[in-house]
Amino acid sequence: MPSRHLSGHKRIALVAHDHKKTEIIEWALRNRETLILHELYATGTTGRLIEDTLGVPVTKLLSGPLGGDQQIGAMIAEEKLDAIIFFWDPMESQPHDPDVKALLRLAVVWNIPMACNRATADFLLTSPYMNAEYDSEITDYSTYLKRQVGSTLAK
Ligand code: PGA
Repeated sequence: MPSRHLSGHKRIALVAHDHKKTEIIEWALRNRETLILHELYATGTTGRLIEDTLGVPVTKLLSGPLGGDQQIGAMIAEEKLDAIIFFWDPMESQPHDPDVKALLRLAVVWNIPMACNRATADFLLTSPYMNAEYDSEITDYSTYLKRQVGSTLAK
């Protein structure tokens, strides 16, 4: 089975919808000692808040509704991220709901650890795999890639 190698020094993306920003800041502060051992990425506004709170650099992408979620999805597909903490709001629809769905989907396609609530984020950060190497087994997509698409024009 193909796999993706995650090193002990993780590249972690942090994203929180507006009503979840206080929660992610509190959570990040409580877990500062572990988080600062890793490389942090975030959507624009979340990143600014986390950077101010933790006092460590965070690579800030675009704000979520302006394309930040899509940038994180692309980084997952390109093996540039190892884990995602995504506090999405279950009580309110977002202007970028299709992007949110796409991001959740790509994390599953590439089997990277993803926490969508505080309890799972606590479990994730305290996992022995967090500071160790881990080979994440991914689905073999080779059959899909070699499928016949039936064009009569392609020779
Ligand atoms: P933000 O984006 O961190 O720029 O607010 C988060 C989101 O809504 O996806």
